[in-house]
Amino acid sequence: IKKIGVLTSGGDSPGMNAAIRSVVRASNYYGIECSGIRMGYDGLINDMVVDLGPRSVRNLINRGGTELKSARSEEFRTVEGRSKAAETVKKHNIDALVVIGGDGSFTGGTIFQKEQGIPFIGIPGTIDNDIFGTDFTLGYDTALNTVVDAIDKIRDTATSHNRVFFVEVMGRDAGFIALNSGIATGALDILIPEQKDSIEDLFSSFENAKQKGKTSSIVVVAEGEKLGGVYDLAKFTKMKYPEFDVKVTVLGHIQRGGSPTVADRVLASRLGVAAVEGLMAGKSNVMAGMQSSKIVFTPIEEAIKKHNEIDKDLIKVADILST
Ligand code: ATP
Repeated sequence: IKKIGVLTSGGDSPGMNAAIRSVVRASNYYGIECSGIRMGYDGLINDMVVDLGPRSVRNLINRGGTELKSARSEEFRTVEGRSKAAETVKKHNIDALVVIGGDGSFTGGTIFQKEQGIPFIGIPGTIDNDIFGTDFTLGYDTALNTVVDAIDKIRDTATSHNRVFFVEVMGRDAGFIALNSGIATGALDILIPEQKDSIEDLFSSFENAKQKGKTSSIVVVAEGEKLGGVYDLAKFTKMKYPEFDVKVTVLGHIQRGGSPTVADRVLASRLGVAAVEGLMAGKSNVMAGMQSSKIVFTPIEEAIKKHNEIDKDLIKVADILST
């Protein structure tokens, strides 16, 4: 292959820039040209292509977000949109694509490959860490550290005023951020989508805490937990324990931003090089991931269909330590 196109698609995550840099530098190292496609698949449809050389990605490794920008493209879901995208690919003599994004972006990539014959390799970029075929996704470690930093600050005010805090963190379908940040901050309880919790379980945690003389508590709640959301939880808790000073904090999009951690920068650097080397070796329709510190290529269908499972041992650790 002579030219690789790289794009970021779907929700952004810290480390995407480091991955772009890695793809560009690795391509250059192997004598391959590299183009960046702006605005995800929309940029492919609308010919938003820029030449990227090793110097154009300087000062990028430390920056959050994605310099190429990301988008959710409705047009790419149509055959017409994808054939326009294929015209752009041909016009710029791009031989293969590296798609940095989540499973939706991989679905788009694999359909594009089958329909238009354009090889691609995916790099998992999402803070949720729920993509199968990699121990960690780009942005997860940074988001986790942001959450822990925020909860540490909340704890200061919680203990000063004997408060109960419900802290909502991201994770519509996956509880990785909630579970790990909850353990790392010593939360009283952690509510995640993967587990069926009841309000009685939550109240018994409070009873336990009261008996042990705990005067403040933090409950970490993933967006997708099944009990009805942080505001309802706060309302029910206040009804049951009128004496509690109950507060809600929704961390929101600060979890998506910020300078990537060392772990995310190194992961992004390794996966970018792996994607370029994979394409050179004729691989396609696979995702480059890391398992037990080794690069692993997972068929894209598998990466889309399956999901990373929460480690049951970790749930047990959280239970043991919160009592
Ligand atoms: P996140 O983890 O943030 O949700 P994602 O990559 O899963 O990231 P999506 O919005 O699901 O984000 O997908 C990104 C883009 O991929 C879509 O906007 C669309 O352009 C393309 N895409 C997703 N599914 C399909 C599909 N079935 N056919 C064609 N393109 C698709």
